[in-house]
Amino acid sequence: MPKVELHVHLEGSFDAERIAQLAREAGEVMPYDKESVLSPSNLDELLTRLDWWCGLVRTPEQVERQAYDLARRLSDDGVVYAEVIVNPTHWSALRRDVLLEAVSEGFARASAQGLCDAWLLVSLLRSQTSDEAIELVAELERRPPSRLVGLSIDGNEAAAGPTGERFASAFALAATIGLGRTAHAGESSGPEGVWSALDQLRVTRIDHGVRSIEDPHLIERLIDDSVTLDVCLTSNVRLLYGTIDLHPLRQLVERGVAVTINTDDPATLGVNLTSEMALAETVCSWGIDGAIGATERAIAASFASDAKATELRRMLDVFAAQVM
Ligand SMILES: [Zn+2]
Repeated sequence: MPKVELHVHLEGSFDAERIAQLAREAGEVMPYDKESVLSPSNLDELLTRLDWWCGLVRTPEQVERQAYDLARRLSDDGVVYAEVIVNPTHWSALRRDVLLEAVSEGFARASAQGLCDAWLLVSLLRSQTSDEAIELVAELERRPPSRLVGLSIDGNEAAAGPTGERFASAFALAATIGLGRTAHAGESSGPEGVWSALDQLRVTRIDHGVRSIEDPHLIERLIDDSVTLDVCLTSNVRLLYGTIDLHPLRQLVERGVAVTINTDDPATLGVNLTSEMALAETVCSWGIDGAIGATERAIAASFASDAKATELRRMLDVFAAQVM
């Protein structure tokens, strides 16, 4: 099935082999076993390790290679379009504009070869200041990376506390310059994080958002405003629910919330979009219609151009005609 992914982090696309290679290239000793480097025990530990392995990336060529390799892996999995989150705060050895353009170049090389058409969501970190956030968006306005489609925010909301007010101006500026807007919420935060993302950041998509299920009024709001939740099942099981049986995907779908299926950190979690779609099937039993519907919702919620969205719908229609 031609698939679309809206919630995947470049920082989570490093496999153990690549991390060991980067450590060698940087002349650094691995502080973790190669076998366990991708098995952090919680979100904080994951973010610490992301900082470490992204910090091993020292040249634009290494960034370009990583971006290209992710697009190629997505392609191998049948993903035809992706919006990839990149948070410059993790990449301590590189200037921000150099990083973002090198990511764009890797995606452009892959796209030119007919591989997955990948685009860039630049992400703020919840612990940044309001001024830092505004400065980032102003820089994106002055010198937009060539594959930029939107602004995102991620990080540990449980540790950062309520930050909607702090980032409202940056997101408002992003809206005025035509960037798509999405926010991580309702994962490390409860429903209040999602309310804040809707009311203060005015996003059209929520990354995760699964804890919205705890607030019936919020469910109504998501439906009324046609807000999409970009859900990542394995990630949520690993960091939040412990078991797939406790995941609220089925309830969200049954109540009429628009959900899409995504991988979050595919290499770190050892998943791809096909395996996550298969896991969604075990939860929802929605058959091929359900998988196609999730992909239609991903196209609708994407920040792709109208022409690109039309092309993606055509590809999905061709597939649907073959299997139905
Ligand atoms: Zn994420």
